[in-house]
Amino acid sequence: MTTLSVVIPAFNEEANVAAVTARTRAVLEELGVDWSIVFVDDGSRDRTVERIRAENAADPRVQGLILSRNFGKEIAIAAGLRAAKGDAVVVMDADLQHPPETIRTFHEAWTGGAEVVLGRRRVEDALGSRRRQFASRLFYPVFRALAGMSLEPGTVDFVLLDRKAVDALNRFDERARFTKGLFHWIGFQTATIAFDCEVRHGGNSSFNFRRLSRFALDGIISFSSFPLRVWSGIGAAISLGSILYALYFFVRTLILGADVPGFPSLIVAITFLSGIQLLSLGVFGEYLSRIYEEVKARPLYLVREEIGTGPLKIAPPGGAAA
Ligand code: UDP
Ligand code: MG
Repeated sequence: MTTLSVVIPAFNEEANVAAVTARTRAVLEELGVDWSIVFVDDGSRDRTVERIRAENAADPRVQGLILSRNFGKEIAIAAGLRAAKGDAVVVMDADLQHPPETIRTFHEAWTGGAEVVLGRRRVEDALGSRRRQFASRLFYPVFRALAGMSLEPGTVDFVLLDRKAVDALNRFDERARFTKGLFHWIGFQTATIAFDCEVRHGGNSSFNFRRLSRFALDGIISFSSFPLRVWSGIGAAISLGSILYALYFFVRTLILGADVPGFPSLIVAITFLSGIQLLSLGVFGEYLSRIYEEVKARPLYLVREEIGTGPLKIAPPGGAAA
């Protein structure tokens, strides 16, 4: 029988662990596969770990990987992918924004030969604030233009990965991870499934606008070196412009003689150029700091405790494994 693992990163999700487990279990039982659910607790400060422990006690197929502190969702997913043992692995949010029932369609696409099945949000309404919807709509075209890789608008990290794709992703040890981009980068037979994003079941989102902007920047920087390279073009254009400007002055002085004015244009040139210089330095800084993070090569994450993440084939409670 094929085995399916569901990886669920969870950070302060005490209100959702039981509900997401129940709904996911129902779907998995119906699919008739061997399954496990792996919660990755990402340093929750509420009772998430206790809730996972309770689920594991009731059904050992629900397991937990408890990280030593909050490493961020991207790293939590990486940890989950390494712990998941299924022939296919689903990654899903804990807050039921990714409806577990969609796994049925994912599974269908997978048995039909797809190796990566990406979930795509049908509408952005569930995203909350208007500013966030707008930013989300803006992000995908910008990413495509800069990274030269198309990320279908609305694709999120609700995904099913074949074992081949999971093994491929497990070879990445980037710290500044942009998992959505990696799902595209690895290639493989890819299918996209639209789903209706639901509203958060309980608790609050841990991504504020600032954290999201940071994340978008991480995504662009880790997939594009264009912001780094663009400065030679801008520099060349400005130099060319100033040479033409100098020529103009030379000819003008020959014809009309020297005059003193030109103070405003001087100030404008100085402020404009120092602005550009600082901006380009800032861009270099963004890349440099990420290079520094990667070069240190610290472990991606540390595990504090494993709750039942043993071999997958565990008998369901009170019965033998099929
Ligand atoms: N999450 C996580 N670590 C974090 C932040 C979030 O593992 O540092 C998990 C969270 O528990 C949820 C998923 O990532 O399962 C998506 O988070 P959230 O719902 O807060 O983000 P949003 O849906 O608002 O983008
Ligand atoms: Mg959410």
